[in-house]
Amino acid sequence: MSGANDSGSGSKGQPATRLVSAGRRPEWTGPAVNPPVWRTSTHLYADCADLARGRPNEDGHFYYGRRGTPTQWALADALTSLEPGAAGTLLYPSGLAAIAGALLGLLDSGDVLLMSDNAYEPSRTLAEKLLGPLGIETRYFDPLDLAAFSSLFCERTRAVLLESPGSLTLEVADIPALAAIAREHGATTMLDNTWATSLHFPVLERGCDVAIHALTKHVGGHSDLMMGAVTAAELHHSRLRARHQLMGQFVSPDDSALALRGLRTLQLRLERQASSALAIARWLAERPEVAHVLNPMLPGAPGHALWLRDFTGGCGLFSFVLAGRTPAHRTRLVDALGLFGIGFSWGGYESLAIPFDPARSRSASAWPPAGWNRADRIAIRLSIGLEDPADLIEDLERGFAAMDAGSERA
Ligand SMILES: *Cc1c(COP(=O)(O)O)cnc(C)c1O
Repeated sequence: MSGANDSGSGSKGQPATRLVSAGRRPEWTGPAVNPPVWRTSTHLYADCADLARGRPNEDGHFYYGRRGTPTQWALADALTSLEPGAAGTLLYPSGLAAIAGALLGLLDSGDVLLMSDNAYEPSRTLAEKLLGPLGIETRYFDPLDLAAFSSLFCERTRAVLLESPGSLTLEVADIPALAAIAREHGATTMLDNTWATSLHFPVLERGCDVAIHALTKHVGGHSDLMMGAVTAAELHHSRLRARHQLMGQFVSPDDSALALRGLRTLQLRLERQASSALAIARWLAERPEVAHVLNPMLPGAPGHALWLRDFTGGCGLFSFVLAGRTPAHRTRLVDALGLFGIGFSWGGYESLAIPFDPARSRSASAWPPAGWNRADRIAIRLSIGLEDPADLIEDLERGFAAMDAGSERA
């Protein structure tokens, strides 16, 4: 079954097939289909000589709880096997901790980081409040402007943090082109790939060095855990692993087992959520109350051509922009929804709607984008869950009716 260099079982076949057995290693957990939840801090040694011999610092070797047990190793191994070209995966207690782990793992004082202007907002806050004081400077770029990106590099540029599609505004960047430019300048590229997952966008194969995933979203899939992962080829993985250990990073075996369980149905959930999201996006695109639907799966929407070229699937997360309405209209719409909950996170089985204002967290690109009517700027993000899409459409229809039942127009 799994040889020494093999990522457990699950490294063969189509993604749906690989998901079923990814991370299952009989040498770790015997005949059990699911790795048991190993709750232990102390790992015992046979005698003092055994203790003095130590253990190889690799997954698969009992040493001490912080270095994990077969439960965490199986999850990391499964994630590695889904990302062709990767040597290993490090687990973090949240998606944001994974972003912080990747940045602090690869950057040093004096380095310059380039960050995509559509990056997850807490990444920007981290750059300002933590990296800055540590002597790491961050510069922002418009992910859709390759020439401007090229011109930003300097001697000290060490790394690039990308996110595509952006998790609020859904721009699809030309990741292979951006990664090639960064490589020419000797910079490491990290991609927050939470929207697509390794199933639909293999990060290393598309030219980036480091894949970051908030497992809280699609992999967990049931809104019952928080976790993040950083997957990379050997060069970066070994350095990231060293710093991961220096910072005492650890995830619980219980959450790891839940994440592994979520992983088994990832393809199925994404397929269903993507097809529902596309149906709802098509419906929204026909509504007079909607100026723009920001969903790269939708023909004619921004980013659709690049999505077709580079991705093998989609998901339930997208946004839309109201035509000439005010924040008060949006409030009435969102508050009138019955099936959509209001809350952060996404990728769960339940649908969510959240108002957002991208203008607050950009510095290198405009919101609304050039060419749009300036009155069309009030945005809502939807995370489509596993409900019947016809019911969700009916819910949104109720929301639109409530929205315009109020009097004012922009
Ligand atoms: C939610 C999210 C994160 C952070 O994940 P947490 O587990 O909530 O910390 C990172 N990146 C993107 C794109 C996200 O949507």
